[in-house]
Amino acid sequence: MANQDDQFKKVISHAKEYGYVFQSSEIYDGLSAVYDYAQNGAELKKNIRDYWWKAMVQMNDNIVGIDSAIFMHPTIWKASGHVDAFNDPLIDNKDSKKRYRADVLIEDYCAKIEAKIDKEVAKAAKRFGDAFDKDEFVATNGRVLGYQEKINTTLSRMAKSLENEDLADVKALIEELEIADPLTGSKNWTEVKQFNLMFGTKLGSSADTAMDLYLRPETAQGIFVNFLNVQKSGRMKIPFGIAQTGKAFRNEIVARQFIFRMREFEQMEMQFFIKPGTQKEWYEYWKEARLKWHLSLGMGEENYRFHDHEKLAHYADAAADIEFKFPFGFKELEGIHSRTDFDLKAHEEYSGKKLQYFDHEEKASYTPYVLETSIGLDRMFLAVFSNALQEEELENGTTRTVLKLPSVLAPVKAAIFPLVKKDGLPEVAKQIVEDLKWDFNVFYDEKDAVGKRYRRQDANGTPFCITVDHDTLEDNTVTIRHRDTMEQQRVKIEDLRQIIKQEVDVRFWLMKM
Ligand code: ATP
Repeated sequence: MANQDDQFKKVISHAKEYGYVFQSSEIYDGLSAVYDYAQNGAELKKNIRDYWWKAMVQMNDNIVGIDSAIFMHPTIWKASGHVDAFNDPLIDNKDSKKRYRADVLIEDYCAKIEAKIDKEVAKAAKRFGDAFDKDEFVATNGRVLGYQEKINTTLSRMAKSLENEDLADVKALIEELEIADPLTGSKNWTEVKQFNLMFGTKLGSSADTAMDLYLRPETAQGIFVNFLNVQKSGRMKIPFGIAQTGKAFRNEIVARQFIFRMREFEQMEMQFFIKPGTQKEWYEYWKEARLKWHLSLGMGEENYRFHDHEKLAHYADAAADIEFKFPFGFKELEGIHSRTDFDLKAHEEYSGKKLQYFDHEEKASYTPYVLETSIGLDRMFLAVFSNALQEEELENGTTRTVLKLPSVLAPVKAAIFPLVKKDGLPEVAKQIVEDLKWDFNVFYDEKDAVGKRYRRQDANGTPFCITVDHDTLEDNTVTIRHRDTMEQQRVKIEDLRQIIKQEVDVRFWLMKM
């Protein structure tokens, strides 16, 4: 656990030191769970968004993208169920006065048991060596089975109590499991209460005519209310999807995990409209398609897993998360939800407008079913960034800090250095910058020794460093150094564009899907 904490602290401080993420309003001591993206962070975030948009919108003939407003008619949130049901169960500790999400306390308790399972597995793997069969061990070992049983009964009881709004039982469960305040160890808890996560605001200039609004807690509703407009103007035929990326706001009860859980964050969502009855197939299809997208970035298959929901949201008939191994363990990165016709039907009812699709083949109208894929851009940022940050032991006994970002996402694709600040080398290096910047985000640096400049770019995640030296003046060649292998090659200036493109072009990455 201490190791995980250390690694996470390193991630946060590296993000600040290298201009990726800053605490919002830092000079005023910050605003809790609100963050700003800095010069490199804004580029990385944009590249992740573009990678998603390319795969989701531009590579699919039947998916289009929109950009709906953050402000929406307040009745939308009544229809969507958010006014009545977008709540988290909160619990306070009477001694420490700290507030927690009751479900998260219970989930963390289960995660600790899961860590015990992992320990047993690791011990057994060591004991049995090559002959070790993990699946068999997990399915037969008495101790592991006991742990698993405990997790299953705990989570399903919690799911049932939350579904039945039996908050007293949620508290009883916390007491039976003897869950203590993680900060102080106190077990002196209040009752569990529901807390609505939407931020309210007002639209209009005078107090008596102003209208109460909410900041949207998800981007999905902007898609549902535009469903017919898009379908008609785009002549879309079912099955088809509408995607969008944008800000969402939630007044999270506990937000202590850097950009994992923020109060203002960005989502990348896609709603796929289908014929009723086909939702199971499409659910499987999108689960697989989304996992492939993640795997295309090469961040390690072992770092992803599916988690099927036991407790379904009010709109869903099936739901799974793609979980990623963050520095603090496996946590939700993306959700895939089979939303039925809940949203369109609700908007029909509340708006009084028909939101149906006429199927020319069936010669009938129906309310489409919806499959949703929903991923947090900031969470994806954290996944990419934390996975990339590594300390590497080098052959000469020293270590280097390297940010092994997938090069398609790296903020700066190449840094260009003159070996020394004289003899016309800076001029040649600047010419290369002028030429490459049409195609890539590049960076010029002439400060310090070249070795130091390499290390700075390694820590910044830049895939290539290009050095101009005296030979360049003779033969128009430069040294290109690769971040991951640290190998250096002598290449012609005119080949640079192609070499970089080979490695950073979205085509080569997405083709792996
Ligand atoms: P959680 O259980 O972690 O609160 P959720 O199930 O409420 O998440 P969804 O409503 O399914 O999340 O939202 C879709 C995605 O939006 C999530 O998978 C996550 O990546 C992202 N997301 C949700 N809430 C936040 C937040 N407060 N900060 C950053 N990203 C978020």
